[in-house]
Amino acid sequence: MSTILVTGGAGYIGSHAVLALKNAGYEVIVLDNLSNGHRELVEEVLQVKLIVGDMSDCSLLDDIFSTHNITAVMHFAAYIAVGESVIDPAKYYQNNVAGTLTLLEAMIAASVKKFIFSSTCALYGVPKFVPLTEDHPQDPISPYATSKWMVERILSDFDTAYNLKSIRFRYFNAAGADPDGLLGEDHEPETHLIPLVLLTAFGKRESILIFGTDYPTPDGTCIRDYIHVTDLAQAHILGLEYLLKGGESEVFNLGNGNGFSVREVIETAKEITGKEIKIEERYCRPGDPPILVGSSDKATKILGWHPEYPNLNEIIAHAWQWHQQRHK
Ligand code: UDP
Repeated sequence: MSTILVTGGAGYIGSHAVLALKNAGYEVIVLDNLSNGHRELVEEVLQVKLIVGDMSDCSLLDDIFSTHNITAVMHFAAYIAVGESVIDPAKYYQNNVAGTLTLLEAMIAASVKKFIFSSTCALYGVPKFVPLTEDHPQDPISPYATSKWMVERILSDFDTAYNLKSIRFRYFNAAGADPDGLLGEDHEPETHLIPLVLLTAFGKRESILIFGTDYPTPDGTCIRDYIHVTDLAQAHILGLEYLLKGGESEVFNLGNGNGFSVREVIETAKEITGKEIKIEERYCRPGDPPILVGSSDKATKILGWHPEYPNLNEIIAHAWQWHQQRHK
């Protein structure tokens, strides 16, 4: 049986990937330093072995690779806050780039040569055209996005030099929660739109701030491509199987191709929750492009990936189900 090492498996997208791996019959080990993840998710909900530690710890990595029969690594562990990365870039380059480099070197030393990487559409920078395709020019505008871009470059050089095969998934806006209600999104602090809107509906926050109302979009607010986290997780299984079958390194966008504005998200959340959601209009957030919508045709064509929950209502309904359980 194949054992997959999942870094960051105690976090939002990582935990959904662990669930998908388990459902697909894989043995899973999670490595997570619990800086943002949740121990109980891995140990109690997912019931998977958790190693608490850091990917920059070479001896821990050597130990993991020498004592388990690991065939591939899915790498979710990273800092993700764009704003924080501008204020403290060292933290982002240290963890997201240097930490990943340490992990990759340990993999090469142990001859583990299949790697699935969580990358981001943020590395395209301000879109020159939409929907964004994988060949759109790359021009990251935050240290967070640059850190992901750097790892992508490393992966391409490591394929050439060490035959390390990787899939780089460039996510659009991951959202929603496990449809069965086992897992959900629980960041601290929370910065993402959908959970913030739902926390407002729940009465945990006074209002939702809309960052920018005079963008060149039909209702003046930013448009994003929200992709259900369970669909993202499923793409990881397909990417893994593609590599295990001997596939070459590839890069894929993962979005659902539909854009929704901030106001549309809030309106949909009002309908689903049946609650009033107080809005406050604010200035634009620096670095927020008006529209980010991706084409995932390549993932459909090569991996056979089809999002099962492309509908915003379902994405928000699943997230709401999780919040209701979480804050009972
Ligand atoms: N946004 C907002 N209010 C918030 C959080 C986000 O208006 O409290 C907007 C943000 O400017 C962006 C969209 O919602 O246009 C999605 O933001 P999020 O932080 O969820 O994801 P990002 O697109 O930045 O990765």
